[in-house]
Amino acid sequence: MTADPDCIFCKIVSGELPSFKIVEDDYTLTFLDLFPVSDGHTLVIPKRHFRDVFEIDETSLAAVTAASRRVAHAIEIALQPDGLSVFQLNRAAAGQTVFHYHMHLLPRNAGDPFKLHSRVRASDDALREIAARIATAMEREN
Ligand code: 5GP
Ligand code: ZN
Repeated sequence: MTADPDCIFCKIVSGELPSFKIVEDDYTLTFLDLFPVSDGHTLVIPKRHFRDVFEIDETSLAAVTAASRRVAHAIEIALQPDGLSVFQLNRAAAGQTVFHYHMHLLPRNAGDPFKLHSRVRASDDALREIAARIATAMEREN
């Protein structure tokens, strides 16, 4: 399926819903998580709709992986976290809540408790500022 009309991430890809975008290429879009577990919590998604690892094709998976590596370097430059968790969840039983494949890039600092989700929406101002810092670092990195 190219797009699912009920999928919020497909709506972000089409521009129907806004996002704090960092970068895109032919196959992927990278933007900030609206409910960040830490500053700079980023999502890398394929532009085509795939529910999860069981549906995604190898071309999109490879593109998401390559984009994730580039964005990880940009987060490192922009935010200098102590570490970075890279993970993705498949199906509700594994904790997936948005059923369009996505990779989480989660900056971590020493001593941070590890959690997968937050219910607190970040402010637009904070998200705009962090997205701009990572996007600027992308230009330096690539
Ligand atoms: P999952 O639980 O499926 O691995 O992750 C879904 C992620 O999407 C969560 O971290 C959640 O905070 C984030 N999220 C949910 N709705 C939106 C949205 O409308 N925009 C953005 N940018 N992120 C969202
Ligand atoms: Zn979708």
